[in-house]
This record gives sequence, C-alpha cells and structure tokens, in this order.
Amino acid sequence: MKKTTKIIICCLAFVLAAAAVVGGYVGWNLTYHPSKWLAEGDDSIEDIPFEEALGQLTMLSNTWEEALPQTEIHDLIENHFASPLPEGKTAKKAIVIGYDGCRVDSFRLLSTAKRSAVNHLLENGGQGVFSYCGGVMYPAENTQATSTAPGWCSMLTGVLADKHGVNNNGQPKSVDPKTLLISLVEDGTINDSAFYVSWDGHFSKKDATYINEKNYVKENGLNVVFKRAFFDAGTKRNIISDIKKQDCSDFIFLTLEYTDHEGHSSGFGPQNAKYVSAFRNAEDAGMDIIEAIEDRETFASEDWLILITTDHGGIGGGHGGASFEERMTFIISNKEIL
Ligand SMILES: [Zn+2]
Repeated sequence: MKKTTKIIICCLAFVLAAAAVVGGYVGWNLTYHPSKWLAEGDDSIEDIPFEEALGQLTMLSNTWEEALPQTEIHDLIENHFASPLPEGKTAKKAIVIGYDGCRVDSFRLLSTAKRSAVNHLLENGGQGVFSYCGGVMYPAENTQATSTAPGWCSMLTGVLADKHGVNNNGQPKSVDPKTLLISLVEDGTINDSAFYVSWDGHFSKKDATYINEKNYVKENGLNVVFKRAFFDAGTKRNIISDIKKQDCSDFIFLTLEYTDHEGHSSGFGPQNAKYVSAFRNAEDAGMDIIEAIEDRETFASEDWLILITTDHGGIGGGHGGASFEERMTFIISNKEIL
C-alpha cells in the first residue's frame, strides 16, 4: 500500500472514531434514559378528551376552573423569603425546577410511576395545583402568547406581558421589571442566585429575553450566575454541582427542555410514547436534583421551597395559541400552596 493511501485510511479511521465518540455523546444526551420509572409497557396512554383527562388528576388540590395564574410562582418565592425562619432552621433556600412545555395531563402517568419528582413532593407534605398561562383563564381569549419567554418571564417578574414587555421569544426584556434572580439579591434578601438552562433564548443570544439583565449583573457585580449547557443532562450537572457546594445558591431557577423539544418534534401529550419518554426524563432529572438537595449535610437546618412547574402546554407539534391544551399548567410544591 502506498504511504499516501495509508495516511488517508488512518485519517478516515480517526475521523470516523471521533464522529462515533461525539455522536454517541450527543445521542446519549438526547435520549437520556437513566431509569425506567413507569410500569412495564406503559409508554403511552389512551387519547381521551382533554377536559376528561384533567378530571382524572385528583392529586391536584384544585379544579382546572380554579387554576391559579402562573405569576403565583413569583409570589410563592417572595413570600417564602419574606416569612420568618421556622424553628430549628437557620437558612432559607428556593428552587424552581421548570419542565418546559410539559402538558399537565402527563400526570395521568404518575399513578404507575416508580420514580417521580412530582409524586415525591406530593407524598412528603407538598401540594399541587392547576395553574394557567396566556394571561387570563381559559376559555377567555388569552392576552399573552402561550410561549416560552412570556411564560417564564411572568413567573420571574410576577407581572404579565403588558408590564414586562416580553410578548414572545426573541424580545429582550428591559432591566425593569427585574426578575427575582436580581431583585432578591439586590435588596439583600438573599446572597446569590443562579439561572441554569440549555435553551439559548434565555440569555445566550443578542435577542435573548434576559440579555439586558445579564449585562446589568456584570456591570453591577451582583452575585447572579447565568449558566447555559448544551443539553439538559449538562443543565442537571451544573445544578447538582451548585447544590453540592456547602454554600449553594440561595435561589436557583432552571428549565429542562426534554418535553418541549419532544413535543415540537413528535407531538405534545401523553398519547405520544416519545413525549412520555421525555416526561420520564424530566421527572428523573427533577428527582436527581431533589435528592441532591435532600442529601445536603445542612439540609435539616435549611428551609427549602421546592417548586416544579411549566411555562405552557402544547397541541399537535406546537404552542403559542389559545387552546385548552396549551393554556393549562401546574405548580407542584414541597409546601402547601392554598
Ligand atoms: Zn416553553
């Protein structure tokens, strides 16, 4: 064999090996299945009318007609930090675990779940409620898009798009009104906060929602971390390494994209086996995060507020509109909400 041929073959072999390693890593991250928490064969469930499905969700403490606005998240966190420390506790902490684009009727699967963050909170003194996005309760015409940026922004600022100005993705919010990540640090309520994501629309692009806040934090030297990973598995790793620090961030906000990505690619809702698998991945990551919190050496002396929520539902391969399936959301807490 000629020397040049050998070199070409070696180069090709190297490129193929590198592609296999990178492809394997990417593939593993996209189809991350650490454990099977659903019962055997329970990969999708019967497609029933949405309202009937909501009626089956008896683990939630209100009815969908009594759903709370998603801005409730803001108030729950603010009240948590404003309330006095319970006896025996020396520090307050809060975390919002966001499952982006998670349809609430996926909770129909939880009765057979072997490992679920939502079940864990509900079974240990917590409470769950229906909430809604879109500005006003369904079936009234929504006043803001059931999209990612307006939804999370309403939770982080406590106001709707008419006040925070984020009507859709790709619209940077002005610094005011400030999110809890900044306001709580700036007024001295907490020492530090952290925002962990993989979606680049939050703060990693020129037109990202919180790009102005990120610059403001840098200019003012505030203890607020903005950290983006390439995939949800990386987001989870970033959070867990924060939680493992003795002096972890006082307020952590994160979004996991499993359900939103799968909904856009193959359809939103638990009638879709692939969407169920994405929900399982979100729940597994949620549980890993909660276990890391409960494993903290100082956990017994800390007063944690742990919330799981979503920004919007979805229908078909999308969201943003006014349908029932897009409007209903949920708030799960490790404490009582109502
Ligand atoms: Zn979203």
